[in-house]
Parts: sequence; C-alpha cells; structure tokens
Amino acid sequence: MYVEVLVEIKNKHLDRTFTYSVPKELESEVDLGKRVSVPFGKQSLEGYLMGIVKKPDFETKEIESILDEEPVLNKEMMELGNSVKDMTLSSLSSCYAAMLPKALKASKKIQMKKKMVSFLKLCFPIEEIESLCTETQKKILHLFESKDIVYKKEANKVSASALKTMLKKGWLEELESEIYRYQKGEVEKKERKKLFKEQQIAYETIQKSLNQSGTFLLHGVTGSGKTEIYLELISDVIKLHKTALVLVPEISLTPQLVHRFSECFDRIAVLHSKLSDGERYDEWRKIIRKEVDIVIGARSAIFAPLENLGIIILDEEHSESYKQESTPKYHAREIAKIRSATHHCPLVLGSATPTLESMARAQKKVYTYVPLTKRALDLEMPEVTLVDMEEEIKARHPILSRELECKIIEKLNKKEQILLLLNRRGHSTTITCSNCGFTYRCPYCDITLTYHKSSNQLRCHYCGYTIYKSDTCPKCKEESLNFYGLGTEKLEDYLEEVFPTAKVIRMDKDSTTSKGAYEKIIEEFEEKKYDILLGTQMISKGLDFENVSLVGILNADQTLNIPDYRSNERTFDLLCQASGRSGRNKKKGEVIIQTFMKDSYILQCVKNHNYINFYKYEMNIRKTLKYPPFYYLVTVTIKSKNYENASKESQKVKNFLTHHIEPSSILLGPTTANMFLVNQVYHFEINIKYRFDNQLKNALKELDEIYLSNTLVSIDIDFH
Ligand code: ADP
Ligand code: ZN
Repeated sequence: MYVEVLVEIKNKHLDRTFTYSVPKELESEVDLGKRVSVPFGKQSLEGYLMGIVKKPDFETKEIESILDEEPVLNKEMMELGNSVKDMTLSSLSSCYAAMLPKALKASKKIQMKKKMVSFLKLCFPIEEIESLCTETQKKILHLFESKDIVYKKEANKVSASALKTMLKKGWLEELESEIYRYQKGEVEKKERKKLFKEQQIAYETIQKSLNQSGTFLLHGVTGSGKTEIYLELISDVIKLHKTALVLVPEISLTPQLVHRFSECFDRIAVLHSKLSDGERYDEWRKIIRKEVDIVIGARSAIFAPLENLGIIILDEEHSESYKQESTPKYHAREIAKIRSATHHCPLVLGSATPTLESMARAQKKVYTYVPLTKRALDLEMPEVTLVDMEEEIKARHPILSRELECKIIEKLNKKEQILLLLNRRGHSTTITCSNCGFTYRCPYCDITLTYHKSSNQLRCHYCGYTIYKSDTCPKCKEESLNFYGLGTEKLEDYLEEVFPTAKVIRMDKDSTTSKGAYEKIIEEFEEKKYDILLGTQMISKGLDFENVSLVGILNADQTLNIPDYRSNERTFDLLCQASGRSGRNKKKGEVIIQTFMKDSYILQCVKNHNYINFYKYEMNIRKTLKYPPFYYLVTVTIKSKNYENASKESQKVKNFLTHHIEPSSILLGPTTANMFLVNQVYHFEINIKYRFDNQLKNALKELDEIYLSNTLVSIDIDFH
C-alpha cells in the first residue's frame, strides 16, 4: 500500500505531499486524516495522511508509525484546509495547524495524556451495610446517598484508613476513568424566555430556513435580546438532531454568556484562549466523540469538527477578533460561509453595529436582513451626552469633566453602579524631562514607552521591551521627570482620590493575566462588591450588568485620529457597544462621552443611536475614497531590519505588481506603515484596491515565492 503524506515542515517550498509505502502490519490502521511519523532526509518528521495511491514508479521510503487511533482531520476539514489555503495564500500545513488544537497538530512533539481519575462504586445497598459500619465509615457511605459514584479523593478526605478498610471488605469498588479537565460546574436549569413580538418575528424568519444554507444579518440594538433568539433557534436545531456552532469574540466569551447557555442546554463544549492545552484537547475530543450538540468558542472554534451542523451563529459579527492576524490570515466569517454551504444550514450574523460590508450585502439582499429595533423589556436606549473637553480643561477638569463627576456622585449615592471606559492601559503614556526634553522611547520601536506604576516599569506596548523608571532623568540627571497621558492605572488612582469611599476595580490586560482573574472581577462586580468598574475595551462588549446606570467614556475620539480607513467604524462600534452596557434592566441608562470633537458626525450618530445615518455617511466616504465595500483591498507589507533594504525592495515589489496586475486596479505606495518600526524591523506598505482582477492572485502568489528565499526582506500579504 502507498500513501501521500503532507509533511509538516516549516518551509513553504515543501508545501506538497510525498509518497511513502506502508508496511504490511500497519495497513489496517491506515485512515485519511491521521497523523503519521515518516523518515525525511536524515530526520523523522510528522505529517498527515492525505491519500492512498497506486504504486509509484520511483523508490519510496516506509512510514514509521501511525500516531492516531482516530483521524484528527475529517473529510470536511481536509477540504476546508484547501479552501483556507486558497483564500489566504498560505501553506496547507499552516492551515491545518491553525485548525487543530495544539495537542493534535503534527510535529508539536507533545504527548497529551488523558486525565485519569479514581472513582468509587458502592457494591451493596446502603441499608445492607450501614449497621456494620463504624461512625467514620458511615460518613463515607453517606457520600453515596445522592450519587452512584464518588471521587476517591472525596472519600479520602473523610478518612483514608476507613476507606481502605471498606475497600478491603469489598463494600466499595475502585474504578479508573477518564475525566475531562474543563468542568463548568452545575448550573440550575431555567426556562427559555418567552420571546417578544419583534424577537418572535426575527426568530421565525430564520427558523423557516433551518434546512438550507443562507446568511442572515440579525441587526439588533444593544440589549434587544439577540441571545434569546439564538437559544430558541438552537433548541429547534437540537430537536432535528443537528448541532450548533456559536462564535463570539474572545472578550465577549464571558462567564455570563456560557452560563446563560448552560441554563438551557447540557451538551456544550467551550473553546477559548484561556483554556490549558489539556482542557482544549478534552473539549475537542468531546466534539469528535459526538458528546456535545453545541460548541461556543472564539475565532478558531469555527473549525470545530462538529458533524451535521444545523446552524452557525457569529455574534458581534463586526468584531475584528474574527480576523486572524498571523498566517493563515483567515476571517472566521468567510469560513462560516463555506461551512454553511457544506452543511446546508443557515449562518446568522448578529450585531448592533454590523460591518459596512455586511450591511451593504443585506441591502443588496445577498443576506436576509432581520432587524430588532427595540430593547427587550421595553427599556429605552440610554441617554447619551457629549461633553466638550476643551471647556473642561479650561475649567481645570482635564480627567473627569464636571458633568461626569457630578453624575458619578449621584449614582454612588443611589447605590447604582458605574462603568468607565478608558481605552489605554498603564499609568502614563509619556514620561518627559522638563529640564532637557528627554522622553523615554522604545529603542526598538517607533513609540514612546508607557509607564506602569504598579511595577515602576516603562513598557513598550509593541514589542514588550521593559525597563525600570529612574527617579532622575537618565540624560541630565535632574529630578524633573513629568508624567503625561492618561492610562487606566492613573485613572484608578485619581478615582480613589476624588471618591475616597467608592470601591473601584480595574479591568485591563494587566489586571487579568492570572487564570480566573477576569471571571472574578465580573462576578464580584455583579455581586455589587464594587461601585465603579473601570477598564479598557474589555469592558465594552457583551457584559450585562443589571445595576449599571451610568457609562462614562473618557477618550472617545482617540481612535478617530488613527490613519486607517476603518477608524470611524471602529470608533462608532466601540462607543455604541460601550454605551449599550448602560440601563440594561429597569433603570434608565445614561452615558457621558468626553471628547475634543463634539461636532463630529460620528459622535452625533452615537448620541442619537443612529446606525443608519452613520452607515450612509461612512459609505459615502468609502465610495469616494475607493475603499471596501466598494473596492477590495490587499495590503502587501515589506519588512526588513535594514531600512535601505526595506525601502529598495518596496520599490521592486511595486514595479513587479505594476506589470503583473490588471491596469484597472489601483496601486498605492510604497509608504511607511502605521507601525513603521517594530522590534527593530522596518515596515513599508503597498495597497492594492481592485474590483475585478483575474491576475492578482497569481501575481501575489508569485511575489510570495520570490521572497521566500530572501533572508533580508520578507513580505506579508493581507486581504481585508
Ligand atoms: P443583546 O445580546 O441583544 O445585547 P441580550 O440578549 O443580552 O441582548 O438581552 C438583553 C437583556 O434582555 C437580558 O438581560 C435578557 O435577559 C433580557 N431579555 C431578552 N429577551 C427577553 C425576553 N423575551 N423576555 C425577558 N427578558 C428578555
Ligand atoms: Zn518596542
């Protein structure tokens, strides 16, 4: 028998299969999608079994072993890998690597073990042996009152010697069994809520098409109850003996969301980045063993090998976290469309602020538009006030405006809770010497260092470079260092100073590094142990706190000034999502947005909760400037440690493209990238805008190949 093996090796030149022969004794184990170990040159490498072929007319080597009992890639996944490869112009093995959990990738050389645990089983009815037991033994016996099997650990805690005796007498029996590492804990079951009229109509529209592929845009304002519609649809899907795949952005994958699903359903697997490799491996095997009906996960869960999919849901479809920023640069929405077609099931894109691309498709009726215009429970949308910070600075209120400060005091008095969004972590963004003008900058990147007070360190938010802050200026040795720019740490200090009795908690990347820290903050805030939750955009999405009636946004326009065609859209999304956290239960919500651009049309749209006006305005800009969704956009980034090389090669790339793509396509650049110098690497960019270009993909592929062997310069191709 002869097989084709995709060898996992970090070299794109070898992104192809090689033929091997299979020794007689291994033939019965051959199955496509399993991993094998093969000799390759002088080494032994791992790869995937891709096909069975006829005897070739050249010499072949033998495969050494077959590593899996069950294939790690099923047929759908093997094909999907090829689609990802085509879409992203990356190697097939990098695609498979992105699709599989770490423990199941080829060549990771980690042996993941199942977690085995000892259980105890009672061999006689309790009544029969109770009278024979000592008091301690009885305690162990009573562990079996509510369950059939008990952890050995649990009984050991009561008394190890009593347990030993009971085992010896044959009253108890010990069993070994695999347990899954990730335990969600018991959740009390609750009825699904009865849908409101608008929800019911939305639900029925999608429900009618459960047996066919098609994309729905569920456009529902924040708090309109999209989750309840998902639950209703999934319940139908399960009745049809099919499965459901639910994608949410990493930061919305809150314990709150998983909890709500667990109240309604049992057989759920959860996949997110905070799981350990072992936990992820276990969750994955639950899916393969068909022990779950529902998978809830972040981006890469789109590859969960659920069979018989009945619905795919992408919640917060506008979230940029659905795009992978490393190779292969896939977009989960595009993968979802492929799977929806394969399984003949609907794809639901849910959002309060859909991407312009999705909204444009809905308007063209490529997607079915399903609106939810009102908040559930007859709640009103929160009232948004824009505060002009120029005035506030004159009035010496540069951090909290007078209006926001008053409102905070009012809410604190009423024992209502407050969210404050400041999308910048650390203490100060710049430290400058007032004597000599020295500023702390990253030696490797084109950026100032951010001061983190808790560790007294300055850190580069691009590359992670870290140094301790000195008391005097490193250059002129004067004690004249000044702190500028507001970060979450400084705001935390400030709040404690201004509202000394308020209990304040901070949530950002720095305060949530340890396992469970994020969950703990949410839980304790929910239990009202804190009055104010301040944080970066982590607090802007998905959270549903019923006692929050004020949201303050501190540097609202910071993202408007970033030179990127999506800046307006990003800002609008962030502000709407953050505002949407206010007034989600009974109490009327209020939002205060502090800005230097009070008259900006974008902010006016946020104030009036007017997505459609924002959409029209921004579409006009995109049309004029030829950006998506009117044009497709590809960015080629040219990178080198040497400035001259980067610059020179950028010109060459431009020349190459000029001659290889269609004349109707627009070539822009080379220019220096937004993040020009990162970790000592210089970045240049070339942008290509096009509508139809049959030559482009081939040109980019060719370009990619030319630069594969270049050790001084590398390129990176990104489809927007
Ligand atoms: P969205 O995801 O659209 O922002 P949620 O699904 O979080 O909104 O719902 C907002 C709030 O409204 C939640 O507290 C939810 O429990 C409540 N809710 C939604 N639908 C109903 C319903 N049909 N009956 C009662 N409460 C509902
Ligand atoms: Zn740096």
